[in-house]
Amino acid sequence: MSKVEAFLTQEEEQEIISAIRTAEKNTSGEIRIHIEASSEKNHDERALEVFHLLKMNNTKDENAVLIYVAVNDKKFVIYGDKGINNVVPDNFWNSTKDVMQNHFKHGNFKQGIVDGILKAGEELQEHFPWQIDDEDELSNEISKG
Ligand code: CA
Ligand code: CA
Repeated sequence: MSKVEAFLTQEEEQEIISAIRTAEKNTSGEIRIHIEASSEKNHDERALEVFHLLKMNNTKDENAVLIYVAVNDKKFVIYGDKGINNVVPDNFWNSTKDVMQNHFKHGNFKQGIVDGILKAGEELQEHFPWQIDDEDELSNEISKG
């Protein structure tokens, strides 16, 4: 069993999925989590690659967000699609990053991911509020590399 499988318990995975559902009740933005052990590539590049592998660049408002975590490398990247980047300030993800970093520093990975998702949802809400005709465009399941 890889490190990635041991990284989160079933229960913790369910908590993460439920955080995504909660976050997506406030915003039309779509949040996905990808977790893998490590990457040979630069983590920003790898996050972009995963974003495309998961076909996250096809949402109606181009407002999908990938939270990419490389467990063994102790790295994470928040990557938002261009619909988001077009309307938010450059430092938009800083508070979400801080929330995650603080938990990760103390080894609280699950909580870092959960709080990161909820924070990202709150931040997105202002620019991309939930709409009555909203669809769940991207799966809420955790993707594992
Ligand atoms: Ca949606
Ligand atoms: Ca979704």
